[in-house]
Amino acid sequence: MSRIAYVNGRYVPHQSARVHVEDRGYQFSDGVYEVCEVSGGYILDRTRHLDRLDRSLSELAIGWPVERAALGRIMIEVAARNRVSDGLVYLQVTRGVARRDHPFPSADTRPALVVTARSTDRAAFAAKAEEGVGVITVPDTRWDRVDIKTIGLLPNVLARQQARDAGAAEAWLVDEDGIVLEGAATNAWIVTGEGELVTRPAVSGILRGITRATAIDTAAALGLTMVERGFTVGEAKAAREAFMTSATSQVMPVVRIDGAPVANGYPGEITRQLRGAFFAHAEKIAVRGSLALEKP
Ligand code: PLP
Repeated sequence: MSRIAYVNGRYVPHQSARVHVEDRGYQFSDGVYEVCEVSGGYILDRTRHLDRLDRSLSELAIGWPVERAALGRIMIEVAARNRVSDGLVYLQVTRGVARRDHPFPSADTRPALVVTARSTDRAAFAAKAEEGVGVITVPDTRWDRVDIKTIGLLPNVLARQQARDAGAAEAWLVDEDGIVLEGAATNAWIVTGEGELVTRPAVSGILRGITRATAIDTAAALGLTMVERGFTVGEAKAAREAFMTSATSQVMPVVRIDGAPVANGYPGEITRQLRGAFFAHAEKIAVRGSLALEKP
């Protein structure tokens, strides 16, 4: 089955999906994005993702490319046309196409919108979560406004590649005081000896992860104690459990940090519990059911 992409108002074969060379996303990374998980035929937490998109757009003074409700429908349509029931929906909004010049182009420049979707191997993910993954720690070399989900991801790309080269799944970015901020594309968590969940506050310095927010709801529903505070690399290495959250990895156990095992080197019980209960606490928008109702 051939993949379909949405590009500025059209559903086109993925192979021939194109944007202009003077799209400001290409020229300046002048754009923002979202990635939603699709699980068991449902887009998860769409409302939270669109809320964060709204914030990212307004921080950069980029307009909505289409009405919010229309974008919600396009996400479903793209997932459905690509027959995705487990996978991802990706959307990107840039400031649009304009002659290359640093300041914002004229106000009538239309923001550009691209939406794609692809399936992921659910069984492979589940197998990975059974074993857990390794992370390395690296200095954070990103800009200050990491709270905006921009497409300017070069430091994240380099950190992820460094992790891969080291045989790890993720790089945890560490500030000058040795505090773990977040991963290159995930939020970072530990479980203390007392069974308390710890993750850094999302006021600044990290992206306010949607999976992080739903994991907080899930932890509350399970009656787990959680505290939002920074933790050091040393504390993480000595933790009872560690894990990371993102729409692409959901709740993924971390069993090695810089090559050393976390506790006994196996996914922890609280992490497993959280992973198991996550789906029940996420917002669920049916891909196929909605398509039948909403197809024009
Ligand atoms: N932190 C960073 C830097 C990210 O890029 C991401 C996701 O791409 C996350 C955290 C996790 O966010 P979410 O749970 O919304 O996927």
